Amino acid sequence: MYCKNCGAEMNDNQAICLKCGVKAGEGTLFCANCGKPLQENADVCLSCGVSTKKKNQELGGYDKTTMALICFFLGGIGVHNFLMGETKKGIFKIVMTFCFCIGCILALIDFVRILTDKYVVDPDKLF
Ligand SMILES: [Zn+2]
Ligand SMILES: [Zn+2]
Repeated sequence: MYCKNCGAEMNDNQAICLKCGVKAGEGTLFCANCGKPLQENADVCLSCGVSTKKKNQELGGYDKTTMALICFFLGGIGVHNFLMGETKKGIFKIVMTFCFCIGCILALIDFVRILTDKYVVDPDKLF
């Protein structure tokens, strides 16, 4: 894997680029797969053919419509959070839904964020 901001080589489990300090997967200048510079707004890396789309990564690799639907119907028990690797958020939603139904409200907020491209996947947060 390569840093998408500066093109430096990174370990797959590295969270932050040691050269430029940018989070893994952040940036649009270099291909994460081959490290070659990308054309501006290119959907696919011209050197290796891998998709450069950031949107998919932001939702844990899931398509926006799919994730929005899962969030809408099953969001109250945090299914969309588990799918995106956000275990803490998922468990928090289940607890909140069973206790006060607050999880349902949180899921609705996630639903709106997914639809408006504002959703940020962060496994360390609770909501
Ligand atoms: Zn970097
Ligand atoms: Zn590439």
